[in-house]
Amino acid sequence: MRGGGTVLFLEQDRQLQLAVTAYLRQRGYQVESAREVQEARTVLSRTRVDAAVVDGLLPGTASLDFIQELRTAHPTLPILLASGLWKDLKSGGPRLKQLRVTRILQKPYTPEELYIWVEQLMKAPRPTPPPIPVTPVPIAAGDLAAELAALNAEYGKQLRERFARLSTALAEARAGSREALDAAYHSAHKLHGSAGSFGFAAVGVAAGRLEAVLKPARTGAGDWAAIDAALRELLASGPDQPPKVPQAAGPVEPGGLKAGSSPLGVPGAVLVLDEDAAWLEQVEKLGQEQVVKVVTAQSVDEALGRVRGQWLDGALLHVHLDGPEGGFAAAARLRGEEALSSLPLAFFSADGDLAHRVAAAHAGGSLYLPRPFTAADFHGAVERLVAARRPERARVLVLHEGAQALLLLTQAMAPQHWEVTGLEDPFMLVEALAEHRPDMLLLDTAVPGPGCFDLCRIVRAMPDWQHLPILLLTQDMGREFRVAAFEAGADDYLTKPVLREELVARVLARVERGRLLRERFERDALTGLLLRRPFLETVHARLNEAERHLRPLALCFLDVDHFKRVNDTYGHLAGDHVLTRLGRLLSTRFRREDVRGRWGGEEFVVALVGETAERAREILARTAAELARTQFEGQRGERFHVTFSAGIAEAPRDGSTVEALLKEADTRLYRAKQNGRNRIEI
Ligand code: GH3
Ligand code: MG
Ligand code: MG
Repeated sequence: MRGGGTVLFLEQDRQLQLAVTAYLRQRGYQVESAREVQEARTVLSRTRVDAAVVDGLLPGTASLDFIQELRTAHPTLPILLASGLWKDLKSGGPRLKQLRVTRILQKPYTPEELYIWVEQLMKAPRPTPPPIPVTPVPIAAGDLAAELAALNAEYGKQLRERFARLSTALAEARAGSREALDAAYHSAHKLHGSAGSFGFAAVGVAAGRLEAVLKPARTGAGDWAAIDAALRELLASGPDQPPKVPQAAGPVEPGGLKAGSSPLGVPGAVLVLDEDAAWLEQVEKLGQEQVVKVVTAQSVDEALGRVRGQWLDGALLHVHLDGPEGGFAAAARLRGEEALSSLPLAFFSADGDLAHRVAAAHAGGSLYLPRPFTAADFHGAVERLVAARRPERARVLVLHEGAQALLLLTQAMAPQHWEVTGLEDPFMLVEALAEHRPDMLLLDTAVPGPGCFDLCRIVRAMPDWQHLPILLLTQDMGREFRVAAFEAGADDYLTKPVLREELVARVLARVERGRLLRERFERDALTGLLLRRPFLETVHARLNEAERHLRPLALCFLDVDHFKRVNDTYGHLAGDHVLTRLGRLLSTRFRREDVRGRWGGEEFVVALVGETAERAREILARTAAELARTQFEGQRGERFHVTFSAGIAEAPRDGSTVEALLKEADTRLYRAKQNGRNRIEI
């Protein structure tokens, strides 16, 4: 059966009233219609209604006054306000929240859309009557919290089976099966990674211990007493213990924005390269204390073998790895790997020699630490490295009711290295988009206030967010819902209860595609560097940061010398190769936070954050030397070399806008050309 229940429908517009009433009646609702407030009062005096739909365009403040009246007489009645345009989403919020308007729908709407929300009003849990005085934000019990809790329970059930399989595998492994040992190890590893997300923290910890003692067993050094003990501990850790539903972490800021998740809220992983095994062991301990995954290696080859295919936030390298300045070559090799080309780096050394510091900045070092470094040094470095790589993490904004449900959703996505931000207040959506700049938006259709279709339309109406993937999390709502959702601009929907794997897979697919598209729009195909517009936007932001922190910023303008001659003599393809090579050099040198772009043709731009023009010249001179050393080959196999000239301007000394700096850097570049090329002017 569809529909059911009595709806008070206060609507001034006669035609709309007739259309909607007919539609709702057809779907099984009793509709009591009224065209003005007095009429509505009469209806209420003789009929019990299950929900009210109130026209928001009544004269003056009549609409809100009537809702106030309704609220006083019927504290738990679901109310839908059909309002005018969302001129300002944020300012309308407080009053409507105070009146506990369940749903706000923007006019004009179609009868189908109104029907969807009436259905939801009827199904939704009644708002709890507020304690007196009225609380600003009523929080009704979130459905998804319960559903996710059910999911956790389901995971708990599966745990029993997994434990049984693990025990069998270990028995076989003890009898000599190598395959069973591998299977047991992988199973422990997986449990270690996932159990915590489903509320089985103790299982996760115990699985981690088992994983640790199984690891040496795979190379023949197993301690079976320790393995047995770890297995016993794991079996005792659950699943019959009920999962702990985590408490909402962190304060909820006014307006419902959850306090920004710190970059370390997502697990970090760093690589530490040093030739001294004893020292590396100590660093691993530091990592354990600070809950960051530390991968150690004594050589680049070993490191590459260990980190292949896994996420790294950064690397710390000994400047004199295997001989003087060996760390710089190691950095170049690491960044030579496609997946690590913009890896944030830190260097450490027993000496603080100025030349080494310049070389480290050129090689990509965001930080320079003493060797041996202290726990505090290490902690600070990890935080910086993780922060530097933050822009590469996919950002997901989730608008969902209930802090606990939000937390569960966030946890479900935690193993993905995404930065997930929760939002409870739909009125803050526009602000949250601007603040967090998400790659994907998850919208819970049950959030009270503006309906998800209106929110989709609002998002789509903003030029910045026309392409933002939107995924709706919804109760099964039928055909009308699906049609309305896609018409409003949603990309996809997921029916609750949400399955973790499905959620992750859908977000991943959308986010990846979005990123690939953006790369294509923002980056130059030949060199992989930023195109002019995104370069300018990024530098603009960096410049603001630098200004706030009273730090300088050096803007470098580079131009390849006699490039026309290169093309004419060695062929256009050889010329292209020079550009690709220089682009690669620029993208793998300097720090993660520095900005590189192709200005056009054979002209490049680099912004070095926090550097003076003086220091930038020293750093860039190293790139110039590297390029000059590079041997190129012409179309007929001729060998040749190229150089570049550059001009550098410094903020705030030479100007405080990107435009002013570019102009100055260009003037200096011209001077470098005049003065004989292959030089850098500041
Ligand atoms: P100068 O030292 O004064 O900078 O001399 P130049 O020859 O480098 O300067 P000019 O601006 O006269 O020549 C730039 C040349 O770069 C001309 C153009 O054909 C070439 N060019 C621009 N874009 C590309 C490209 O994508 N690939 C190749 N192979 N050549 C390009
Ligand atoms: Mg030029
Ligand atoms: Mg040139």
